[in-house]
Amino acid sequence: MKIKEERTFVLVKPDGVRKGLIGEIIKRFEQRDMKIVALEMFTPTRAMIDQHYPKDKAWVTRLGEKTLNTFTKYGISAKKEYGTDDPAKIGPQVRTWLVDFMVSAPLVKMVVQGVHAVDMVRKIAGPTMPYLADMGTIRGDYSNDSPAIANLEKRPVYNLVHASETPEEAKHEIAHWFGKDAKIVSYKRFGVDE
Ligand code: GDP
Ligand code: MG
Repeated sequence: MKIKEERTFVLVKPDGVRKGLIGEIIKRFEQRDMKIVALEMFTPTRAMIDQHYPKDKAWVTRLGEKTLNTFTKYGISAKKEYGTDDPAKIGPQVRTWLVDFMVSAPLVKMVVQGVHAVDMVRKIAGPTMPYLADMGTIRGDYSNDSPAIANLEKRPVYNLVHASETPEEAKHEIAHWFGKDAKIVSYKRFGVDE
């Protein structure tokens, strides 16, 4: 893969679609010389979402650890709220909230291509927690949510977009959502490719 043609995968989540932010989100990638090379609005099946989020113990436990850290920070008892303070048991619960949320509305999926696409798109999206995301990022400009509230309400943090975190994750997600012979188009961006 040529360095100018790194690809990443982005999903506009239910809150992004329902807030009318599809155009704004796409605009912000294009504004930074990123190229949209595949794009579709669709209604996800539970099975497709379930396969999208990793199932391996390390990933799920990390999700549980993040949730526990928030409880510790805000002095909430995980044992009281969930009946356990074992991250390996809390992680699968958070994963279920995520899947439930992601099938609650249509989504927009896309492949974004460009120089350091994975890192650039994560930078444009902002960090996971909207209350910590800088102004100028998608999450910082259009959302405000806290894991302290989300965890108590037993739902995922609402943060508008999903974006791959590594080139390996991107490759896997593009194949999952667009198929192995992904319907990816080719064109030259003015001022970028020529
Ligand atoms: P992302 O790559 O920035 O989207 O974040 P992760 O891959 O770590 O987590 C996946 C999604 O799970 C996030 O986008 C959030 O919607 C949700 N999430 C992550 N951490 C927490 C948490 O501590 N509590 C809750 N309720 N949701 C979380
Ligand atoms: Mg992630």
